[in-house]
Amino acid sequence: MSSPVYTKLAVIGCGLIGASVILAARAAGAVGEVAVADASEAARARIVELGFADSVSADPAQAVRDADLVVFAVPVMAMGEAARAAAPGMKPGATVTDVGSVKAAVGEALAEALPKTCFIVPGHPIAGTEQSGPDAGFAELFQNRWVILTPQPRDDAPYREAVARLTAFWTQLGSNVEEMDDRHHDLVLAVTSHLPHLIAYTIVGAAADLEGVTRGEVMKYSAGGFRDFTRIAASDPTMWRDVFLSNKDAVLEVLGRFTEDLQALSRAIRWGEGDKLFDLFSRTREIRRGIIAAGQESAEPNFGRDHRSPESPDTKAQ
Ligand code: NAP
Repeated sequence: MSSPVYTKLAVIGCGLIGASVILAARAAGAVGEVAVADASEAARARIVELGFADSVSADPAQAVRDADLVVFAVPVMAMGEAARAAAPGMKPGATVTDVGSVKAAVGEALAEALPKTCFIVPGHPIAGTEQSGPDAGFAELFQNRWVILTPQPRDDAPYREAVARLTAFWTQLGSNVEEMDDRHHDLVLAVTSHLPHLIAYTIVGAAADLEGVTRGEVMKYSAGGFRDFTRIAASDPTMWRDVFLSNKDAVLEVLGRFTEDLQALSRAIRWGEGDKLFDLFSRTREIRRGIIAAGQESAEPNFGRDHRSPESPDTKAQ
């Protein structure tokens, strides 16, 4: 096992991502002591039961005392409030990062709330599931996943050292790290993550509201495509409300483009323009192959799920 990158890690907000950071850091030997602060009494009680933190508190200022790495893992719009609560306990020279899915707004909120003596390096692990809470965390979540860091525009040596150390931390957890401008991150993620979630929420909501098709029929006959959308649409409502409100400009820009493309597709279907449909579907198939070649997805049919349908008699018999 490697030597710790940080002596004390404090995690503020310990749900799926916060708990996974702790479990991965412990498994990799990347940290010594671990302190947690969480606003939820139920989450705090559960973290004590799970036993992966050395101390658990409701007070962020207490958790961050003497920490040399502080990770904010609360919903995006709670980052400012959590950072303001932590500020009085922050050790000068500590590195502060976060895992929020939106970067420009979070970077601004952290910079406004925290003392100038700490090094703020916003970050976003491109890894997650549709589940929430400390029980959902697991140590392997960041293995072979990208972590995007959006450092502040400064190049003094102490700040760059803080960025290098945080990069070493994530690398030790099994991630690939890349630096990016925060606004560019927000545009890229609007395309690859935020819009797909918006579409999934829309499709699942629309199917549930369709006249002439009962809700029971939607559930009973849900085909693979629809089922995949329901997994995404089961994602945490607080987290996703915050993502859309905090990344409004980029999401609206990408949504505008998507709406135009959708209109073009309806026209192609209406006028029987099969070539247009075939060309698009061929291009998108290549994108899927590229994602598999990049090691970001399984090449197994249907994501490697069991081929038997949940409705099949032999599955039911088990
Ligand atoms: P989660 O499972 O809901 O956990 C968040 C925890 O933070 C909850 O226990 C919550 O308590 C607590 N909290 C909320 N406000 C707080 C505050 N002001 N101070 C202290 N604790 C507070 O959320 P998550 O899925 O781990 O997401 C956390 C962050 O990771 C979000 O910013 C999200 O954008 C980002 N992210 C998520 C994913 C994903 O797939 N889920 C992937 C990448 C990045 P309450 O329940 O009482 O509010």
